[in-house]
Amino acid sequence: MCNTYKLRCITCGKLFEPSPTLYTCDKCGPRYGTIEVVYDYDKIKLKKSQFNKCGDISQFKAILPIKEYPIRQKVGNTPLLSFKNFYGVKNVIFKYDGTNPTGSYKDRATAIAISKAYEYNFDTIYCASTGNAASSLAGLTTTTKLKTFIFVPSNIPIAKLAQLVVYGANILKIDGNYDTAFDISMKIGSKLNWYSRNSAINPYLLEGKKTGAMELIVQLDFNVPDVVFVSVGDGTVISGIFKGFYDFYKLNLTNKIPKIIGVQAEGADAVAKTFEKGRPYTPFDIQPNTIADSISVGKPRDVIKACKYVEKSKGKFIRVSDIEIQKAIFELAQKTGIFAEPAGATAFAGFKKALSQKFISKNESIAIFITGNGLKDVNPIKNNIKIKKIPPKLEEVLKYIEVIK
Ligand SMILES: *Cc1c(COP(=O)(O)O)cnc(C)c1O
Ligand SMILES: [Zn+2]
Repeated sequence: MCNTYKLRCITCGKLFEPSPTLYTCDKCGPRYGTIEVVYDYDKIKLKKSQFNKCGDISQFKAILPIKEYPIRQKVGNTPLLSFKNFYGVKNVIFKYDGTNPTGSYKDRATAIAISKAYEYNFDTIYCASTGNAASSLAGLTTTTKLKTFIFVPSNIPIAKLAQLVVYGANILKIDGNYDTAFDISMKIGSKLNWYSRNSAINPYLLEGKKTGAMELIVQLDFNVPDVVFVSVGDGTVISGIFKGFYDFYKLNLTNKIPKIIGVQAEGADAVAKTFEKGRPYTPFDIQPNTIADSISVGKPRDVIKACKYVEKSKGKFIRVSDIEIQKAIFELAQKTGIFAEPAGATAFAGFKKALSQKFISKNESIAIFITGNGLKDVNPIKNNIKIKKIPPKLEEVLKYIEVIK
């Protein structure tokens, strides 16, 4: 069965019929004119019992804009860890997406982009990215018939290239910065008729990203948490997480939508700034500076949706410093066993900040999305490794154990 859906501009509300080349609203442009996928909820009949706690994201096919699902790797089905009386809070839940095939939340979106490329008979898919979107696309296309091109800026660090090279993607290193690589990718993509996996530009990516929220709800037996924390760069992940809660609510599978708190690094807070200025939301552009590479975004592309959706959820945005993010990586790992990359630990740092500011209360149930695996980026850890060399003598080692234990 294939569900029917329409596309709607987030700013002017114009409705469009789906088409292979429609990415953003022609009238509002790529920034204001990002597009929502809208369903006729009355026509989609879903029962709680049809979902299960160990399915991948294809179990949500009836509420996804796809016809086929050609993904071989298991995307989604990521662990949920629940803690009682955590930092004095009654119930804290972690949804850890670092176990996805390529190590981040981005796989949820890539899986849908690949499905659309199949449906529309494209033979090539591309994106411009230096990070998780690129490695995700390179990784998940390996077992498909698609050719893959990744546009990267000239200053891309070697560690980031590693995953792309190993997966064998075609890499186009553009002599310029990220924005230059992005703009060229869009032009080449449309000229050569390649399918775009560029974040926010492709409306279906958000639909993939909503599955994290749906999966969380299924794992919680359809009990909705009170407050949810999500780290924010371009704003697509947080918008997707809202949409997941929203769809389930509109389908009468749940009874509420949680407050959604977006967490940004102090040095990359363009979405928070836009939100706080209020309606009508007008994007702020900044020069980003943070150790949390995956959310180091100066020109967020899904900012309008992120602001509207967070407002709708009665949530807000908070900022955390790089030092707080760094501390959060260690604390999260040592208290939960989850080793997160900086952008992943940012959501946890936001939880701690909200608690200290009494923005959340101790008897609320809290969910925290951890979006990426710590092995992705060990640079922020490196500076904290201070391990003494011990002479290879039994008594010296025993002495040292006494000191550190
Ligand atoms: C991309 C990403 C985010 C943020 O997602 P946006 O859609 O850019 O807001 C957060 N964490 C990780 C690990 C990411 O890769
Ligand atoms: Zn429009």
